[in-house]
Amino acid sequence: MLENRNLNDEPIMQGKRKQLVEILKNKGIQDSNVLAAISKLPRHFFIPGKGWEYEQSYQDKALKINSGQTISQPYTVAYQTELLEIHPDEKVLEIGTGSGYQASVLAMLGANVLTIERHKPLHEETAALLQLLKLDKQIQQFYGDGFEGLPQYAPFDKILITAAAPEIPPRLLEQLKMGGIMVLPLGEGQVQQMVRITKTGNKEYRTEVFDNFAFVPMLKGVE
Ligand code: SAH
Repeated sequence: MLENRNLNDEPIMQGKRKQLVEILKNKGIQDSNVLAAISKLPRHFFIPGKGWEYEQSYQDKALKINSGQTISQPYTVAYQTELLEIHPDEKVLEIGTGSGYQASVLAMLGANVLTIERHKPLHEETAALLQLLKLDKQIQQFYGDGFEGLPQYAPFDKILITAAAPEIPPRLLEQLKMGGIMVLPLGEGQVQQMVRITKTGNKEYRTEVFDNFAFVPMLKGVE
């Protein structure tokens, strides 16, 4: 299932990763814990391919994974993670497991991650990878529709959506803890606005709007 992967972390890759961290710093990422997590985690483990992809793993760009999906650009991963203000042992729900890279960054920050993916083959492939990387204790994977969230595990300290949401999913808002934070790219067009929602009271929320990004769409149902 994990054919065509380079699961060795060669010194050349470590060097490229250090350069990537410098690029992210120059683009404005400041949280030293986030930068340390990206510097430690081999992104090339999460990208299927035959060779050239490994070179590209440490360029600051999104890359193709299976099921027609993408692994987000490192800057986007860093940006969303920074907005979430993760503390160790927090319970974090991620929508859109994809490659598992974002979930693993959250795990490196000490979060207990629950993550949902709607593509079965991608869900299974990433489950095999996270097991191999021994991240499957800290990251629980679910196959399903992220619009529903995981009510049986709610409430969550943090919720992260990694696909373009056409609206703020109401079921997910309900699953946020008091004081909890949800970060999502909001919008139906080619470009979405990054939004951070903080639950400030019973049915009261603060909304902050940040930069524009381009994500694959958040779709209803499963495949
Ligand atoms: N976080 C991922 C990014 C993957 S791209 C990573 O680090 O690689 C977004 C992912 O969201 C895709 O895999 C897509 O299939 C998934 N997705 C889209 N809509 C979804 C939904 N309603 N529920 C769960 N996953 C969804």
